[in-house]
Amino acid sequence: MRTINLALFFISDIFLLVLLVSSIVEREKRASFISFAGLLFNSLLWLIFIRFDHLSPVKEINLVAVIGLFIFAFISLIPFFPPGADRDISQVEKYDERDNMFARNNLQFHPEPAAAYYSAHPEKKEIDKKIRDKPELGEPGSTYYDHYGSPVMDAAFSYLARTRFAASGEISKKKKKITNEEMTRAIRDIARLYGAVDVGFTELRPYHLYSRSGRHKEGWGEVIKNKHRSAVVFVVKMDVDMINEAPSLPAAIEASHQYVEAAKIAHITAEYIRSFGYDARGHTDANYQVLCVPLAVDSGIGVLGRLGIFMHPVYGPCVRLSVVTTDLKLEETKKKKNHRIEHFCRVCKKCADNCPSKSIPHDEELSSRGFRHWSIDQEKCFSLWKTFGTDCAVCIRVCPYTKPDTPVHRLVRFYISRNSLNQRIALFFDDLLYGRKQAIPGRNPDLFRTKDLMRAKIQL
Ligand code: SF4
Ligand code: SF4
Repeated sequence: MRTINLALFFISDIFLLVLLVSSIVEREKRASFISFAGLLFNSLLWLIFIRFDHLSPVKEINLVAVIGLFIFAFISLIPFFPPGADRDISQVEKYDERDNMFARNNLQFHPEPAAAYYSAHPEKKEIDKKIRDKPELGEPGSTYYDHYGSPVMDAAFSYLARTRFAASGEISKKKKKITNEEMTRAIRDIARLYGAVDVGFTELRPYHLYSRSGRHKEGWGEVIKNKHRSAVVFVVKMDVDMINEAPSLPAAIEASHQYVEAAKIAHITAEYIRSFGYDARGHTDANYQVLCVPLAVDSGIGVLGRLGIFMHPVYGPCVRLSVVTTDLKLEETKKKKNHRIEHFCRVCKKCADNCPSKSIPHDEELSSRGFRHWSIDQEKCFSLWKTFGTDCAVCIRVCPYTKPDTPVHRLVRFYISRNSLNQRIALFFDDLLYGRKQAIPGRNPDLFRTKDLMRAKIQL
């Protein structure tokens, strides 16, 4: 028994020590304190078991603890999830880009499309006016406006607007000889070279496309025509430290930063494909013909989360996406089983509990546009963005999947990938270490003194 006790003492203490160090490095105060207390308690407990293993009732309690731990370890390894119902996507209706909040917010600058839109959707006129009356993102008057910081985000979006032309371009007249396999591999390599953490390939289906364009005055209301056969989805990760400042400005600066990174990858990849004599178009922030999330889900690299955006198995929702569509035929990504993340989303609900505008549902997925899926109240969400002057991202910050890719978090991801009981236990510990409800800062961190956020990371 002494040998078993010694082994369990060392294994559990090493785990708690690694958790403590990891929490300190991640500057998670609550997690550091709790793991330090856990380390002390665990050490004391096992030292008592080892020192007094001949005394009753220590002997009996020790035996129960050891048997309990072995049963716990055995159950933890059993792979089991209740079967999830597959989504029926045979009747999906296309989404009209004119209905999204960015498109509707832009109507204030374009009277003719505005008149056409509100005569077709009079029910949206009042709420849209209320939202428009608030300052634009990055303008003075919002909670997290900063004279020097907010223009960092604006500059990134202006840059994206100016580089829209790079989405398409001249196709080489000379069609080069290629194989689908080699092109798929080359595209994946280019994406990785330019910073993508994952790449998915899928067939382009009609419901991946917006029905009509709506984001800009040019082409407003035009039917989207895209005859490409394949789509490539690029995933870039956002910096967890910056997202942990959500909803204040560093999170919005990081989101805009990664939109730029994602756009760069899509534009270069599209140019690369065109140089072989095949058509390709990049789809990047404010310049989409496609919906990135269904494409990413269909390419098998993640799922749609309760918070209404894409969830990657490693980086969770702390990512941004861009897409290239092309008339090339590419090898589709081998589909991974991501149902464990969907199952976690059903029990977790942390984003819904923390959403300051109550836009995220606590209930099951509802049906809209002809299929069952998570969706949020986009009016409430966008209205809060304008109050904050940032893109909020509290839901991304609090999500248990939004953690750095360290050995401790990899171990947790493996643990929750085994069964639903593990997921509930992990959620209990996530709430314990990081808090179920997380406080929202009343103002930005001191941007110009928090050197790791602004000086070191983005070299302002
Ligand atoms: S916070 Fe929880 S429920 Fe929300 S997206 Fe993340 S895992 Fe899903
Ligand atoms: S971005 Fe903010 S307001 Fe919008 S759903 Fe997420 S937490 Fe809610």
